[in-house]
Amino acid sequence: NCPFGAIEQMSFVDEVMGKLNDPKVVVVGIPAPAVRVAIAEEFGAPPGTLTVKKLHSAMKKAGFKVYENNLAADQTILEEGGEIVGKIRYWVLGERSKELEEFGKHPFPHFTSCCPAWVRYAEINYAALLPHISGARSPMLMAGPSAKTWAALNIWKVDPVKVYTVGIMPCTAKIFEASRPEFHAAWKFLREKKIIPDNTPKFPDIDAVLTTRDLAEVFRRKGINPLEMPEEAEEKITEMYTGGATIFGNSGGVMEAALRYAYQVVSGKNPPSWDIYAVRGYTKYGVKEATITLPLKDGKTITVRTATVNGIKNHLDKVVKDVLSGQSPYDIIEVMNCPGGCINGGGQPVQPMGTSWIDPLLPLRLKV
Ligand code: SF4
Repeated sequence: NCPFGAIEQMSFVDEVMGKLNDPKVVVVGIPAPAVRVAIAEEFGAPPGTLTVKKLHSAMKKAGFKVYENNLAADQTILEEGGEIVGKIRYWVLGERSKELEEFGKHPFPHFTSCCPAWVRYAEINYAALLPHISGARSPMLMAGPSAKTWAALNIWKVDPVKVYTVGIMPCTAKIFEASRPEFHAAWKFLREKKIIPDNTPKFPDIDAVLTTRDLAEVFRRKGINPLEMPEEAEEKITEMYTGGATIFGNSGGVMEAALRYAYQVVSGKNPPSWDIYAVRGYTKYGVKEATITLPLKDGKTITVRTATVNGIKNHLDKVVKDVLSGQSPYDIIEVMNCPGGCINGGGQPVQPMGTSWIDPLLPLRLKV
């Protein structure tokens, strides 16, 4: 976000190239939803030209195994949607049980947690807000340990210590997030289960992060044009996901996916439509409000008031101060640092001056 470009983006391109050329290393690429609709621009095509299957083919040709970040986004929603349902049961329906005790420490409004820039901003400026923020890791930080444990042992059948995970993100803040000292879950799990020796040096859940621009550089150095790649015919289990994961790439997507989950769980049936347009997308003022009705199994209904905030400078401080003073009208608040969400993240292809940014609704129109 530095307006003068004084801070240069940290690049893992050389390190990742070295790992891709090392036969002893299993390099796993974890591509985020917003990357797949932007990478084509780096090769001269309009946004959205590339299909996911061509991207997967190009990644495999470059030497990556693919672990879809979207698969992890589905995990994130199971986690975060479960938190929202738990909070509804505790705070709205007044249920009390040992299972629900933890939710009593985490009041509404509920804030999303998958944007590391937002989480860091809250940690520095609004520590009192932390109990409101979801405890769910971001999809990248769920994908890393899952790739180094479940996929390494059960799918690829490789030594987990040889797995080198690369988040492929539209985002420069993800570089910082991957470096946070608390993210060593795979190392901890594998030692506890005696799968690796006790004296194995600590390794992170995510070893490196490439932005969309960085991935294009890796492809160029390898002589790969993803636009010319065939569509990968076979989908592995680590490459499968739902549409609820793909919409994480734009503003309102995490909110919509969480509401879809909450609707199903509290009502016991599917929503009349999976599209919850009211919470989606970019607004000029940076805060999109909606009121959603969730039916309960006993025939009653509850009303959930949502706010989707994109761009931290856009009224976020007022939204947060209202929460801290008990004046907030909202129940669930999604915050994304970038205008329109990750689709316009700091690691995306740079548009020439004077052109507009990528349409934040683009991922919703693409066939995935
Ligand atoms: Fe990164 Fe921006 Fe997405 Fe936040 S909104 S995760 S800073 S790309």
